[in-house]
Amino acid sequence: MDDRFIPFIHNYCDRWCDRCPLTARCRVAEAEKTDASVGHDTDNETFWRRIAASFAEAQMMLAGKAEELGIDLGVVTDEEFARFQEFEDDFIENHGLTKLAQTYVKESRRALDEASDWLLFAPLDETEQSEMLEVVRWYHFFIAAKIGRGLMGILDFEGGLDEEQLADAQSDANGSIKIALIAVERSQRAWAALTAPENADRLEPLVRLLENVKKTAETQFPHARDFLRPGFDEFEPVM
Ligand code: SF4
Repeated sequence: MDDRFIPFIHNYCDRWCDRCPLTARCRVAEAEKTDASVGHDTDNETFWRRIAASFAEAQMMLAGKAEELGIDLGVVTDEEFARFQEFEDDFIENHGLTKLAQTYVKESRRALDEASDWLLFAPLDETEQSEMLEVVRWYHFFIAAKIGRGLMGILDFEGGLDEEQLADAQSDANGSIKIALIAVERSQRAWAALTAPENADRLEPLVRLLENVKKTAETQFPHARDFLRPGFDEFEPVM
């Protein structure tokens, strides 16, 4: 472990590294820098050290998750694992929150594709418009992805609801939902800033849809807001 890096910081951020104040404390940002300089040169020792660090971190996460679920990784058969994956896919796909988030992906995608029809009414200058569009573009898939991960975290190995994970404010599930909620609110503000009386019919339903995603997520994950995101919520940012 290298104490320059904050463990798991990259699991609960918005992955917008270009705008992140904590790149110096993040292993992912460091790995990306190394990627750029080392590429995939398998004769380079740094390349292999980076692969080893990624495997070690993935192994730690897997072991942690198995412990949360009370699973002894040494005794899970392939069939049991496949059965769990089936529960998981079914649970996530059919959950009301997933459906809302997927509807938002579809509707926001459509609005972005048709921006030339409504953007001219936005009460902002060109730079501000681009900034708001960048925000909604950045988060429109991210929200559904983080909601999927949050739902994944509250399923136990028998396919039931894992109440402990739901109640534990610091569980991965609550952390995933917290960053999804942050992305929802930033997207709502961006859509609202682009809205004028002339394009309100087109944009206000998106803000309302996001409000529905937010309220449903808060109801299903009542402790998500209490999650302290490593680096972002519990320490002073290191610039
Ligand atoms: S913590 Fe910052 S630098 Fe690291 S992955 Fe997230 S946004 Fe990128």
